[in-house]
Amino acid sequence: MLYSYQNCVLKGCETVAQLYGGIRFIKGIGEQRAKTLEKLGIHTLYDLVSYFPRDYEDRSGLVSLSEVKDGESAYVRALVCSKPLLYRVRGGRQLVKFEISDDTGKCGVTFFNQPYVKDNIHYGKEYCFYGKFSRAGNFIQLTSPVYEAPDAESVVMGGIVPIYRLTAGVSQKILASAIKQGLSAIKDGLPEILPASTREKYKLTDVVSAYNLIHFPRTEADIARARERLVFEELFVLSCALRQRRNTVGTQKGRVFADTDAEEFYSALPFEPTKAQKRAIEECFADMRSGRLMNRLVQGDVGSGKTLVAAACFWLAARSGCQAAFMAPTEILAEQHFSTLSSMLEPFGINCVLLTGSMTKKQKSEALEKISLGEAQLVIGTHAILSETVDFFDLGLVITDEQHRFGVEQRTELSKKGKTPHVLVMSATPIPRTLALIIYGDLDVSVIDELPPGRQKVDTYAVGEDMRERINKFIAKLVGEGRQVYIICPAIDENEAYNYASVETYYEKLKTEIFPDIPIACLHGKMKGTEKDEIMRAFKDGETKILVSTTVIEVGVDVPNAALIVIENAERFGLSQLHQLRGRVGRGQYKSYCVLFDQLGSEESKQRLGALCKLSDGFKISEVDLKLRGPGDFFGSRQSGLPVTKLADLSCGMDSLMAAQQEAEELLHSDPGLKAPANRALAEKISALSAVSLN
Ligand code: ADP
Ligand code: MG
Repeated sequence: MLYSYQNCVLKGCETVAQLYGGIRFIKGIGEQRAKTLEKLGIHTLYDLVSYFPRDYEDRSGLVSLSEVKDGESAYVRALVCSKPLLYRVRGGRQLVKFEISDDTGKCGVTFFNQPYVKDNIHYGKEYCFYGKFSRAGNFIQLTSPVYEAPDAESVVMGGIVPIYRLTAGVSQKILASAIKQGLSAIKDGLPEILPASTREKYKLTDVVSAYNLIHFPRTEADIARARERLVFEELFVLSCALRQRRNTVGTQKGRVFADTDAEEFYSALPFEPTKAQKRAIEECFADMRSGRLMNRLVQGDVGSGKTLVAAACFWLAARSGCQAAFMAPTEILAEQHFSTLSSMLEPFGINCVLLTGSMTKKQKSEALEKISLGEAQLVIGTHAILSETVDFFDLGLVITDEQHRFGVEQRTELSKKGKTPHVLVMSATPIPRTLALIIYGDLDVSVIDELPPGRQKVDTYAVGEDMRERINKFIAKLVGEGRQVYIICPAIDENEAYNYASVETYYEKLKTEIFPDIPIACLHGKMKGTEKDEIMRAFKDGETKILVSTTVIEVGVDVPNAALIVIENAERFGLSQLHQLRGRVGRGQYKSYCVLFDQLGSEESKQRLGALCKLSDGFKISEVDLKLRGPGDFFGSRQSGLPVTKLADLSCGMDSLMAAQQEAEELLHSDPGLKAPANRALAEKISALSAVSLN
């Protein structure tokens, strides 16, 4: 991370340059070691002291050698009672061996591949050792312990010690000692980011104590106090960054769309929009007519009818005389949206074109021409829309479907194609509101919390291999009644080619051995666009009855006649993803089922899949998923585009998250540009953060 230190408010001025300078001045850090530390992201003194422990070990409680137990770690103080000797053994390994003793017994000590220990440990001197002992009767052994002379200023011994994430060439001892020296060089020269009022209100400790305590706590309570403050700080900085972004976007001018009555659009639909759909549409329309730029997220469970909201917005854009773009995460989905939206919008004279990576050169250049001349009013496609060759005549609205698949970056990329077009994102992975606030903190949120009428609950069963026969019979029975069936195979390997092979092998078996009389097809992401297209069309038209597929059908695919989805190795999926897959059925009038094959059958998988059988609300499911799998899936930088926080564990930090957000809001209200001298350190931190990941 880069900080410009001129602006930082520090107490001791001479330490400013030092804080953002190198760490070579620290005893024990030479050129080589400084290079090694860079691998851990440590460049400056500030980086060094911000390198927080990943864990702690309680090494308090000295024991005597007679008390150590086999297989347990302990902390002893003992005399070196034999000269340390270096041995070379086969395979080039080097051992240092010696004996230690105290009043109660003797113990053999062995170090592997640390030849220098021979010269560091002196015969006849006393040391403290910490490590894992093995014991058989009175015969005690200790392997590669950490050690320290008892008169040394303790950093790795005694009491609670920090455990850092390491890299080759840096030991816990080196790191802890460097950090200790770093902290004492800085003294009280760390920038305070939290406003004094906030610290007072939540009784949070000051920055200097927090940094000292997080590294070198004396008690568990110290760790808790330091963590509380530092987690709060992370969430506070993140909240400020998102809030500021939203404030800037919120004041950006947007094109004013036409004030046309939505009833005209509704009346042409084959069904009545639900109340929730109408509400979301009204919220979008209000944004697009307000003169400010729309920057909104529509969240709705699978099947809640988000496409209709998009269609209404496209209709309004066309009525307002500009172009719109719709970006989907897969070709199948883009093609499906193309056919749905064309049939909904062409009656209004709105011209739609498709743009995907697998189109022929000729098809593409035709589409591109229509786009640049403004003949195409709606462009539907995959990320191919982002490519440089796409030149819009007048882009006024951008909608991305299944937002979680796109990074924030791509979202921004597409906006650049127009003169600040309105932006709407649609997410099919409902997430708990608290989390949405942080992941989508820069967006306004509409929620579609109602399903179209007549939807039935999809009966869901988690089963084992013993049910295979019965499930196969059930598949045949449903097909006999005219319904269609999905069979989903998971990604079983990192190697994509291997996955496709396994889907195809399974498909061959089903086709030749198990359902020889049923039209069956196979679909996977490696196929050509046209091939996939044809397979999907045949399934949609009911020509094929069973579709064996990878998760490429996970999002958005709509075949109302499908009444059963069988998911192999369901235990490998996240609950939200399974819920997505389940959403492929129960889209029409037929009673629908979801069968989850749990090939593992562990307690944990039973519990998770059991939850899915009971729950049908996507928001509740994502909450359970969040509890069981942690926030990584949601919060990971891959999906959200957000920086991974160092400490903040969002699944348990909801209270502080809310508090941090509230404080951020209040602060930005009183000092929107963070111009006050007291807020400059915060402003610096935010711009560093934004440069890294929010843009
Ligand atoms: P999702 O929110 O998962 O993207 P879709 O937009 O694909 O949902 O809609 C799911 C299905 O529900 C589609 O077949 C769509 O035509 C239908 N649908 C949407 N809105 C309504 C409604 N108000 N009444 C009846 N059916 C609807
Ligand atoms: Mg959808």
